[in-house]
Parts: sequence; C-alpha cells; structure tokens
Amino acid sequence: MDDTQCFEYSDEIEEDEGICDERQGTGDDCTELRALLLFLLLWQSVFKVADRAIIVLIKFFKIFLTSIGKILQAETLLNFAKIIPETLYMIEKKLGLQKDSFIKYAVCPKCKTLYSFDKCIRRKPNGETVSAKCSHVSFPRHPRQTGRRPCGTVLMKTMRSRTGKPFLYPKQVYCFQKITDALQDLITNPNFLENCEKWRDRSAQLPENVLGDCFEGKVWQEFQYVDGEPFLAASNNFGLMLNVDWFQPTLHGSGSIGVIYLVIMNLPREERFKPENLIVAGIIPGPKEPKLHINSFLQPLVDDLIDLWDGVILNTTRFGCQQMFRAAILALSSDIPASRKCGGFVGHTAKKGTWKAYLIINVMLFFSCRLK
Ligand SMILES: [Zn+2]
Repeated sequence: MDDTQCFEYSDEIEEDEGICDERQGTGDDCTELRALLLFLLLWQSVFKVADRAIIVLIKFFKIFLTSIGKILQAETLLNFAKIIPETLYMIEKKLGLQKDSFIKYAVCPKCKTLYSFDKCIRRKPNGETVSAKCSHVSFPRHPRQTGRRPCGTVLMKTMRSRTGKPFLYPKQVYCFQKITDALQDLITNPNFLENCEKWRDRSAQLPENVLGDCFEGKVWQEFQYVDGEPFLAASNNFGLMLNVDWFQPTLHGSGSIGVIYLVIMNLPREERFKPENLIVAGIIPGPKEPKLHINSFLQPLVDDLIDLWDGVILNTTRFGCQQMFRAAILALSSDIPASRKCGGFVGHTAKKGTWKAYLIINVMLFFSCRLK
C-alpha cells in the first residue's frame, strides 16, 4: 500500500511541504532547535504534561522570540522563531521520532468493504479523476438479479487543500498496523523477551491447583504443544489476546470509533497492559459502530495472523541478529456486541442469522402449509 501515500493531503503534510520549500536547510539541521524540542519532549514525559500544554508552550516561545527579534531587529532570532514547529506531528517529524507504520484503507461507508486508495480513483478519458463506486456484492449467488447488484456507494469525496487545489479523499479511512511490524518494535525493547519468559518460573512459586493467571488455564496448557510440536513450550512463541471495543474519541459529541488491539499474554500481568506493550492493530472509523459485522476490518489481521502462525523472521537486536517468531490468538476479551462481531456472527440483537436462514424458514413454512 505504499502507492497510497501520494493521495495523502492532510493539513500537516501540506504544512510540512510549505516549510521545506521556504526554509530548506535551516530547520532540520538546526542543533539549537533540536535541543529545545528534545528538552520539551523529555520534560513532558518526566512530568506527565498533556500534549496540548506542550503545543501552547511552544507557540508562546515562537510568538515571544518573534517579538524580541522584531524589537532588537535581529534577523537570526526571527529566522529561528520561524522554524519552530507548531504541531506535535511536526515536532516528532523534525526529531525523526515519527513511527507511523499504519496502512490506510478506504472504507465503503455503507457495506464497510476495504479498498486500497488507488482502487478508489477512476480516470475519465479527458483526464479528469472521479471517485469510484463500491463494487462489493453482498449476495453474489442470490436467486434474484436485483439481489446480486453491487453496493454502488461513492467512496471518495472532494476536498480542497489550503492552496485551493481540489483533491479526492476517502469518505472513511481504516488504519491497520501489521502485528509483525509491532512485534518487531517490541522485541528490540530492553527486557521485553526476558519478561516474556518469566511465566515459566511460576509453577515453582504457586501452590498446587491454584489458578493465579492465564498461565495456569486450560487453553495455555493446551497450546504448550500443538500437533506434537512445541509452541508455548518453546521460546520466541507468543500467545495473544484480542480486544475490540468502541470509544468516544472527543469530549463532546456522540460519535465513536472502534479499536482492535492485542495483548501479549506471555508478559507478566503487571507489564501486559502497559500502553507501550499493547499492539493497536486497527482503528475502525466512526461515527457509528458497524451494525452487522466487522469481518472486512478483521481480514488484514487474519492474513497477518496466518503468517505469524507459520513463523516470521524478525531482528532480535538493532544490529541485525535474526530469529523465527510465531504467535497465535488464544483469547478474545470484549463485551457481548463486540465479541459477536469478532467471531464473524451477526449482532446479539439480530433476529435472523442470514438471508439464507430467512429463506430456509420461508421454504419450511411453505411446505408445512401445503402438507396441511
Ligand atoms: Zn459498499
């Protein structure tokens, strides 16, 4: 999906392009600016300062230095004030800390089918680009032709950049991160692999027949050996817990977005749920929870999990030492509506399973009436 990047036109990216044009060679290699930004991020981390507070502080710095530069008529100070970034996105970009490994898919607002961005744009013979329509057919073997019609929903909307240039952008976007990429980052963290092995010493510490954590549970024990091959009994293999839930992303308003995230069960309980040890696999766009199922959002995750079950080669150190790692989902932890949707079933309030079930019921009713 690297080809999708050319369609990204967020305000921040445009801002980024503008800065590069105007101040090339003055922003990225300014040691004093890097020192200032690094100190602010370190200060934020140590004293748990909110992101918004950092932005307000840095904007104040910018205005203050500009005012002083104008009073003193110091061109150097004015140039320095100019290259101070104003958003957290730009601060992280300037420091090279940005690690956005999310793959973006366009989502059909109606049926929630995923498309790569390039598949959503259609070129007319005159060169004009227009949005493609959703080609998903929910019931391809429906007996009636009208039931086999594609969804037909328009996928892209026209937006305008700051310069007034129109461009097409998906109406809804699904962000997905490969578990393999997230695991690659985690295993190079100090002590991560050591922490994942600590559960093996638990049996000596616990009294017999005491269930203290998932490690004493039936599923964990069953996955020690799978088909005669060691899985959890061997190192470098992870048991994952899948979690799905919907959250309200803003303080005010009623919209909600879904988050698919994974927990590495090998870690001790006190480490397992720390934000830095969680894997955010997908962010389901809002503003409302999908009514029927989330199968389309789970598809990239399933593809990734198949690779992880077979085994993937990852770097265990930053210097290139490689080993094979495997992973499998052992548990699903979510509320009732989310667990139904994760399992590929319809929602818990559904009265009919599928249109096929509805058809079978009608046929049975027809024959029972004929027999009478
Ligand atoms: Zn559709």
